[in-house]
This record gives sequence, structure tokens and C-alpha cells, in this order.
Amino acid sequence: MEVLEEGEIDGIQYKIIATPYATVVKVKCPRCGKWGNLRKDRGKRFIIVHERSHCHFDWTRDVFEVLEKIYRRKFRIE
Ligand SMILES: [Zn+2]
Repeated sequence: MEVLEEGEIDGIQYKIIATPYATVVKVKCPRCGKWGNLRKDRGKRFIIVHERSHCHFDWTRDVFEVLEKIYRRKFRIE
């Protein structure tokens, strides 16, 4: 695993990591505070996948735009 980029956007910490299979985006969850993988869901929704749970954020949530900004970083450096 190689960390390609790490930083913080609008108070949310993130890391973009290259694994042998894919580039993944990890964020410190604004809801529960745990790190997890940021994934885009069908429709306008993000999921942060933790080890035993996950948190959903649809477009009505304030943090949605911040998650979108973080998610787009992946395509800038991939
Ligand atoms: Zn969470």
C-alpha cells in the first residue's frame, strides 16, 4: 500500500491509497469518527465503509459536497 496523497478538506481528513487492486479513498468519518473507505453509491449518495458498520450520506447532508471534493481527488492522481 502506498499513500499517494493525504490531507484535509473543510475539516475532513482523507488519504488516497494505492493497493495492488485499486486506488482507494479513506476518510475520517464526519459522523462516527472512524476511518473508512469512501465509496460512491447509486444515485447521489456516498457510503463510508467501516470494519463492522457503514455510514451513508445523501446529497441533502451538508458534508456531501466535501465528500464529493475528496472523492474527485482520486481521479486527479490515478
Ligand atoms: Zn462512520
